[in-house]
Amino acid sequence: MKKFIYADNAATTKLSDRALDAMMPYLRDHYGNPSSIYSAGREAHRAVEDARRKIAAAIHAPAGDIYFTSCGTESDNWALKGTARRLKKEGKNHIITTVIEHHAILHAAKSLEEDGFDVTYLPVDTKGRVSAEAVREAIRPQTALVSVMYANNEIGTVQPVAEIGEICRREGILFHTDAVQAAGILPIDVKEQKIDMLSMSAHKFNGPKGTGVLYCRKGFCPDNLLDGGAQERGHRSGTENVAYIAGMAAALEEACLTMEEKAARLASLRDRIQEGILAIPGTYLNGDEENRLPGILNVSFEKIDGEALLFELDLKGIAASSGSACTSGSVDPSHVLLAAGVPYQLAHGSLRISLGRYNTEEEADQIVKGVTEAVEDLRAGRVSRNG
Ligand SMILES: *Cc1c(COP(=O)(O)O)cnc(C)c1O
Repeated sequence: MKKFIYADNAATTKLSDRALDAMMPYLRDHYGNPSSIYSAGREAHRAVEDARRKIAAAIHAPAGDIYFTSCGTESDNWALKGTARRLKKEGKNHIITTVIEHHAILHAAKSLEEDGFDVTYLPVDTKGRVSAEAVREAIRPQTALVSVMYANNEIGTVQPVAEIGEICRREGILFHTDAVQAAGILPIDVKEQKIDMLSMSAHKFNGPKGTGVLYCRKGFCPDNLLDGGAQERGHRSGTENVAYIAGMAAALEEACLTMEEKAARLASLRDRIQEGILAIPGTYLNGDEENRLPGILNVSFEKIDGEALLFELDLKGIAASSGSACTSGSVDPSHVLLAAGVPYQLAHGSLRISLGRYNTEEEADQIVKGVTEAVEDLRAGRVSRNG
């Protein structure tokens, strides 16, 4: 029986033991509603507020600026739609974002276009980088918001967030960043980087799925998406998911404590795999070698169908991705690769290996071996799918 190798950590991650331990008491015993005044409620309330402090500390924010949501997608939607709705009342009707955002941002922006908003989608260079100067040039008197992701989920390119923050702050424009891939992996300081809103999602840093955060700098909160019992200081209704919030905080705290060491380890594993895979003829690296998440490797192969490659790798017990999880299964190649100028055929033959805290050196070598064999087999027409 082959060992299962999980190399799709940009899609989701395994729950850490510490996160699970932090969740269990609230799943089993302390089931009170955090809004109730009896002691079981107060116990739950304490857990939520303790988590809020831990998460705030991780991004150098005041605890009062942290709002719990149901996922990264909700945080992104709230930041975009809530801000647009709020600032429309002041005559603002323009939003700036980029062509390489996650669909949580891109589809929210499309929906705002249907509501009459004007959206500028900034291009990227061949490494998938947005220029801060392009952000400055796109700003108009009617601009309500700039939303540029911290790090890309497909190719790992890290954006010049602090530079963009600086420009937006000077122009008096709100700046949101989707930091779902960066949180727990890269240092974040919302004060220093002049970030007004920031999205996170627990399941990308070894926390549970289905819980996230939107940070909103004091003095501004987007209009509500969910109205109801006025939880989260009246801004995000719905009974708090206490156990998951506690698990998220424990996971982020743990990730931040070991951040530097983990980043170095992931980068070294990633480089080992990169070297091995780029030795295969007709293979190209996608993304930015200089400004890249430590755990993400994206490559394209000539004369390979990405989906077929994933299938071959799965047979070898290796879980990886082609394009993003949300778009695999569709025939369209990744919008990120195409935006970075990768030719259509090569975008079709792409592979994303994304590493996490549980990957080992032995696994790295097995990934190289598995990918090399699979590419050779596919190019030679030895396809398991048919035989
Ligand atoms: C995963 C991801 C999201 C969506 O987060 P969910 O919690 O899965 O909704 C948003 N943006 C980026 C960059 C992501 O990688």
